[in-house]
Amino acid sequence: MDALRASRGRFLARLRAEVPAVEVEADGEIVHLGALSPGCRACKAGTWDCLFTTLRCNLRCGFCLNPQVEAGDFHGSAFGREPEEIARNHARTDIRGISFSGGEPLLERERLFEWVAFFRQRRPDAWLWAYTHGLLATEDDLRTLGALGLDEIRFNTAATGYAHAAVLESLAHAARHVPHVTVEIPAIPEDLDRLLGSLDKWAARGVRFLNLHELLYEPGTPSAQRPGPREPVVLADGHLTAIDPGSREVTLAVMKEVQRRGLQLAVNDCSLQGKLRQLEGRRRSLMPLTRRPWEEMQADTTLVSYLLWQSELEFELVHPGRVDAARRGHPSWHLARLSRRAPTTLEAAEDWLSCEHLF
Ligand code: SF4
Repeated sequence: MDALRASRGRFLARLRAEVPAVEVEADGEIVHLGALSPGCRACKAGTWDCLFTTLRCNLRCGFCLNPQVEAGDFHGSAFGREPEEIARNHARTDIRGISFSGGEPLLERERLFEWVAFFRQRRPDAWLWAYTHGLLATEDDLRTLGALGLDEIRFNTAATGYAHAAVLESLAHAARHVPHVTVEIPAIPEDLDRLLGSLDKWAARGVRFLNLHELLYEPGTPSAQRPGPREPVVLADGHLTAIDPGSREVTLAVMKEVQRRGLQLAVNDCSLQGKLRQLEGRRRSLMPLTRRPWEEMQADTTLVSYLLWQSELEFELVHPGRVDAARRGHPSWHLARLSRRAPTTLEAAEDWLSCEHLF
C-alpha cells in the first residue's frame, strides 16, 4: 500500500502541473476535472449500493471484473436479494445512490424496469443510475428508463471498441431520454488513440461525464488473464490484486486533451485508492446492520469488543464502554479484547483480526 501511495503521489504531482484545473480531494483519493456526477459522489462516500439484475453478459471483455461463475446466476445486492428487502435495509443506513448493473442489465430488461420503478417510487431522494455496454439498448428502452425516473445511464464503450455505430446512436438516444449520460470505461493504455479519437464523438452526442477506471488485474475474473504490465498491490486485508501503471498515463492524456480542446466533458479518475475509500465507506454504511450491540466501531472501521469468561458456559460479551463496570462484577474472570473487520456485505464471513488475552 505504501508503494501504491508513493507511485500515485508522483502521478498526482504531474497531473496538477499539466492539468491546472484538476481538483484533488481527500488526500488524492478523489480526483476529477470538472464536476462529479452525484452518483460518483455517493460512491466515493460509500453511500452507494449496486444492484445486479443479472451477472450474465453477452460479451466477453478481456478487462471484465465480473467473477467467472459459469453455473447459475445472481440478482440482488450487498443488502439483500429482492427490492423489498434491499429497500428495508437501505432505510436503516445512509444509502443515497442506487445503481443497476450486471453483467449486462438489459439481458434482464423487465427486472431492470421493475427495479428502477420500485426504487424511484420508494426513494425519490436517491440518485439512480444504470450501466450498459449499449448494444442492447434500444431507443424504447432508454425512453422507458427515462420515464421511470432514472437519473443517469453509463455506457461501457470500451466493450465495443469505443465508437461502435450502434452504441453511438444509443448514446444520442440516451441523451434525449435520460437526464445524464456518462461513459464509464477502464483506462487501457494500448487503446489510448482510439479513446482520444472518440472523446468528441461522445461529447457531440450528449455525454457529459467520463469515468476512467484504473485498469485492474483482479484474481478470479477474466481481467487476471489479460496480458499487460502489473503493479502488484497487497490490500490491508491481505488481498492481492494488481493495477496497470500505464492507466494513469491514459487519465493524464485524456484530461489534457479535454482541457486543450475545451470539450464539455467532466473526467473522473476512478483509481484503486478511490475504490478502497469507497469500500471503507461501505463498511460504515452497513454498520447499523452489521455491528453487534457489544461492539464499538473504531476510526479504521474495525469493530472492537471484550470477552469476559470463567468457563465455556460462563461468559459475557461486553461493549468497550462497559468493560470496567463488567470487570468489577466478575473480578476473577478472564478478559480478552476482540477485534474484527467490519464487513462489506451482509453475508460476508467473519473476518477476525485479533483476540488479545489481557488477564
Ligand atoms: S465488462 Fe461489462 S460488457 Fe464486458 S463482459 Fe464484463 S459485464 Fe459484459
